[in-house]
Amino acid sequence: SCAAQTPCGRLLSTSSRCRTVMPAWVIDKYGSNEVLRFTKNASFPIINYPNEVIVKVFAAGLNPIDVAMRGGYGAATLSMKRDPLNIKQSGSEFPLVLGRDVSGVIMECGLDVKYFRERDEVWAAIPPWKQGSLAEFVVLSANEVSHKPKCLSHIEAAAIPYVATTAWSALVNTGGLRKDNCANKRILILGGSGGVGTFAVQMVKAWGAHVTVTCSQNAERFLRGLGADHVVDYTAGPVEEPLSALEKFDLILDNVGGDTERWALKLLKPWSGSKFVTLVTPFMQNTDRLGVADGMMQTAATVASKALKHLMKGVHYRWGFFAPSGSALDEIRDMVDAKQIRPVVEETFSFSQVPQAFEKVEKGHARGKTVVQIS
Ligand code: NDP
Repeated sequence: SCAAQTPCGRLLSTSSRCRTVMPAWVIDKYGSNEVLRFTKNASFPIINYPNEVIVKVFAAGLNPIDVAMRGGYGAATLSMKRDPLNIKQSGSEFPLVLGRDVSGVIMECGLDVKYFRERDEVWAAIPPWKQGSLAEFVVLSANEVSHKPKCLSHIEAAAIPYVATTAWSALVNTGGLRKDNCANKRILILGGSGGVGTFAVQMVKAWGAHVTVTCSQNAERFLRGLGADHVVDYTAGPVEEPLSALEKFDLILDNVGGDTERWALKLLKPWSGSKFVTLVTPFMQNTDRLGVADGMMQTAATVASKALKHLMKGVHYRWGFFAPSGSALDEIRDMVDAKQIRPVVEETFSFSQVPQAFEKVEKGHARGKTVVQIS
């Protein structure tokens, strides 16, 4: 028999050798929601490298990038990552499985995997160039995976990894924040009410920072409940006006983009190492539009000239990016288990309702995360 019991009492197949196909939501071309297709015959993932693990997916989180990728966002850049030698025909990424967050159970480990065993409960953020979590199983590198917080259900755990590793990469790796250097720092989070914002507020608050956020008026109580010290309603008029009246900031995380760059850098303390980190960058659009080589040149030129312009005014301008990291998730798990961070699940959908889950994310105005229960 292929069946074994997981710690949470669910049935789990002990070997992928038993299976060749699995249920999944896939797309066969880029487009609107109609391209989403349910199949019982998606290819079962295969361990290709000895450091990989196969995870049985119990819950999958959706992010705005899933909606964007459904429409073809990042196709050029991600194809290069999937097939660096450009051997395969264009379109070889299909059928493509979306879904960037996973919470589930390890089902099989490659020969070099030491840190995990079959049946361990894990969570991970799946890089956009890999097959996603809207499927019964997914294959990942062990260094992208982490043991999930014990105190969370799979649904709750799937609300965290992608936004958390993005916020970690932007705030820690790019912004230089650490748990021991945040006390007395003033941090502004532009766009506090969505997935990244609700996580980032809790993280820097747990590290002792003073946190100001911008959001719609109807999200004020919600954000104060997550720890925001000061909330500014961006729908009440030009938000830069009330923000300019406040004491200046040590770090700004921009989840909004648009015209924020025009005014936000003036809100930083000059000549003190203060940083503006934006998550809304033209990197993928450039490579989609101009091709990978020219797009990367254009991107490098743009970011270098902006960084230099702002450096001359005494502030640092940076782009932040999602980065998969099991070790960051290990630290985040400890913060969750210590009750410093809680998951914010706005709405849960069943596996048969994946198109409705995409509609929800596409409508915008998120207040936390949208999660799909897979099994
Ligand atoms: P969400 O869709 O979960 O959240 C966006 C939030 O912003 C919503 O709550 C929305 O609520 C609010 N909002 C919209 N306009 C404004 C505004 N002008 N001022 C303040 N708040 C606003 O997105 P995520 O949190 O997942 O992602 C945030 C951004 O970061 C996205 O642009 C995403 O593409 C980007 N990102 C980039 C990554 C990278 O690698 N560079 C990785 C992950 C995310 P409401 O409209 O009701 O106010």
